[in-house]
Amino acid sequence: MIINFSNFKLRNELLKVIKEINYIRPTPIQIKCIPLLLNKYDVLGIAKTGSGKTASYVLPILNSITINSLQCLVLVPTRELAIQIKDNFLLFSKYLKFKILSLYGGQKYNIQLSKLKNNPNIIISTPGRLIDYIKRRNLINFNNIKFLVLDEVDEMFCKGFIDDVKFILSNINVKHQTALFSATICNNIKNIIKKFMLFPKEINLLLNKKKFDNIPKNIKQYYCLFYSYNDKINFLINFLEVEKFKAVIIFVKTKSYTLKLSNLLQKKGYNCSSLNGDMNQNLREKNINDLRNGNINILVATDIAARGLDINNVNLVINYDLPIDFKYYIHRIGRTGRANNIGKTILFINKRDIKIVYLLQKKLNIKINKIYPPNKNILLKIRIKKIMNFIEYYINKKNNNDFFYKNILTNILKKYNFINNEKINLILLNFIYDNLFLNKKI
Ligand code: ADP
Ligand code: MG
Repeated sequence: MIINFSNFKLRNELLKVIKEINYIRPTPIQIKCIPLLLNKYDVLGIAKTGSGKTASYVLPILNSITINSLQCLVLVPTRELAIQIKDNFLLFSKYLKFKILSLYGGQKYNIQLSKLKNNPNIIISTPGRLIDYIKRRNLINFNNIKFLVLDEVDEMFCKGFIDDVKFILSNINVKHQTALFSATICNNIKNIIKKFMLFPKEINLLLNKKKFDNIPKNIKQYYCLFYSYNDKINFLINFLEVEKFKAVIIFVKTKSYTLKLSNLLQKKGYNCSSLNGDMNQNLREKNINDLRNGNINILVATDIAARGLDINNVNLVINYDLPIDFKYYIHRIGRTGRANNIGKTILFINKRDIKIVYLLQKKLNIKINKIYPPNKNILLKIRIKKIMNFIEYYINKKNNNDFFYKNILTNILKKYNFINNEKINLILLNFIYDNLFLNKKI
């Protein structure tokens, strides 16, 4: 039986948005979770990255709450995710009158305070900042909470978060529904989190539950061997030159290296920025927005970008440094191939560590194919093509009558046996002049 959104008996205001944003059919996790949450069950939802888990809880929540008080709390591990999920709530509540607020560190208290005093109906927060408000300011009234959501729930119950999360949960004493979501979960954590739920329904859409099967099939995975530090950086630069990417996230291990690598790529002329937890919040938000709207197309990030981020253009993920564990491999590469789009990932690996590739393949039940760095011939072809494209663009762009360089160009072209076409030659000369002599980026 084909299930449509209209089968869920959602408010017309929601169905209208669903239509507007062109969601044709609910995804499998939505088909299972939306009715359960509408029917007041607690839900633990487990499904692959990019499979639409957010709308699985956003829609039933928006369908069920009223505008009277704070009725929904969503906890997430990163600031960027808090913003993204707030935007999701805003999107779907376009025709409803809810007040939706995201709280996270790095944002000015006075701004957040005035919004808090405005009685939001839905708060999406990182744990730390919420605790500030609970402990010091006693400003948040949880007495009318109807929904508690923990997205990326396994992460929220890991060290670094667990004490904060337990503290927050201990402050919510009213009967409410709980919805927990992630693409990865282990039994250990499952047992802990079930203590916070009443008769939970577990929806696990990973096909083979004994083995991991939580990597979307539309992500093509590769590994590339390197032998030295220099290799690694050169391979990266060469891959970036030949890969047809709309946007790429490059994951590195340390905060400082995000800056170093992104500076280096900027010097090579790439539109590149970085993201790490030490950066000031305005810059973090700017860089993520730049990636979302295409102002930049390369983001060098720590694992802060590994979970939950949904950025449409990202069709390449490069694991420049190894992820800390299997889970992080899944989440990092899950930044691409979302909603059945095609994605590609390349894992850089030192020859000594090759066994990690075999382990990943075995444990995650996946195939990671070997890829070689682009060779000189391929690079040459790509470069010539780029120059030719640029010339074409240049021809159409302006009618340049600068004859001063004509002779030099003609000589260069003759010497290197270039095209025997005066117009192209002139344009090529001007191109070389503009871009190389004036030291502009190509
Ligand atoms: P997850 O949380 O499972 O990783 P998201 O909720 O972030 O995935 O959704 C991934 C992408 O899929 C988003 O861009 C979202 O807009 C899109 N999406 C979600 N549900 C649908 C649907 N029913 N039809 C089409 N696209 C969808
Ligand atoms: Mg998600």
